[in-house]
Amino acid sequence: MIINKNLLLLCFILVLVMTPMKSIEVYGAVSGSTQNESLKQSAVNMIEAILNITNTSGSVTEPTTGVSNNPSTNSTPSPTLHPNKVIPKSPGTQQANCPSEGKLNISNSQYSHLNRYLDCDKPRMIVIHWSGGWSSAQVTFNTLNERDRSCQFAIDENTTIQMLDHYPDLVERGWCAGEYGNVGSINFEITGSYFDSVLLERNQNPKRYEQLITMTDKTVALTCKFIQMYSIPKSAIYGHYQLQSGKPDPGVEYLKFFKQRVNQAC
Ligand SMILES: [Zn+2]
Repeated sequence: MIINKNLLLLCFILVLVMTPMKSIEVYGAVSGSTQNESLKQSAVNMIEAILNITNTSGSVTEPTTGVSNNPSTNSTPSPTLHPNKVIPKSPGTQQANCPSEGKLNISNSQYSHLNRYLDCDKPRMIVIHWSGGWSSAQVTFNTLNERDRSCQFAIDENTTIQMLDHYPDLVERGWCAGEYGNVGSINFEITGSYFDSVLLERNQNPKRYEQLITMTDKTVALTCKFIQMYSIPKSAIYGHYQLQSGKPDPGVEYLKFFKQRVNQAC
């Protein structure tokens, strides 16, 4: 009887141990070679979920970049989300401390609010990003939502999406520029990556250069609008790389170029 009880206990423990392994395998076993990657991804997702749940104010360091910075990809791949991933609820699904009235629809942009809602701040700086891939503003919007991040504007050649709320004196806080950078910043996600190379290789790839200029001019126009509207000094235009370690966007040379164009335009 004692042996049988022990055997039963052993079987029970085995079942307990095997069940989670099996479920991870089901999700991870796309192919043998990707299984380890999937398991790693599961661990990363769990850590990310814990980090996001811990963060209730958006003031904790942004965990990872929104999109791929791989120069070898020409378009932004849709992020591979683990099917098991629990996307934590954004802090406050309402407008937090933002006013209930007085929202501004910024001209020449289409308004589409992201899933994440944070508090409102007095705007104090402009932050320039690249999206990470030569895709579209809509892809940037989708990627931000999928990763529970937020920025104020996504820009491509044809479209500008206003993704968070603006008020006459306030802007809704994003979650894309790091601990210091998120508060009181207006963030522009310009479609593409490695802008310094685009400027440098202008003659080799004039089409891409023109594409970048078109998007730059749209962003410069909005930057000038906000500089005037919110009394932001021109010295408060930053690249994401200046605010958060490990971020290369939008490139040192490109930021200089961008600021020169702002100086010419307003
Ligand atoms: Zn960035």
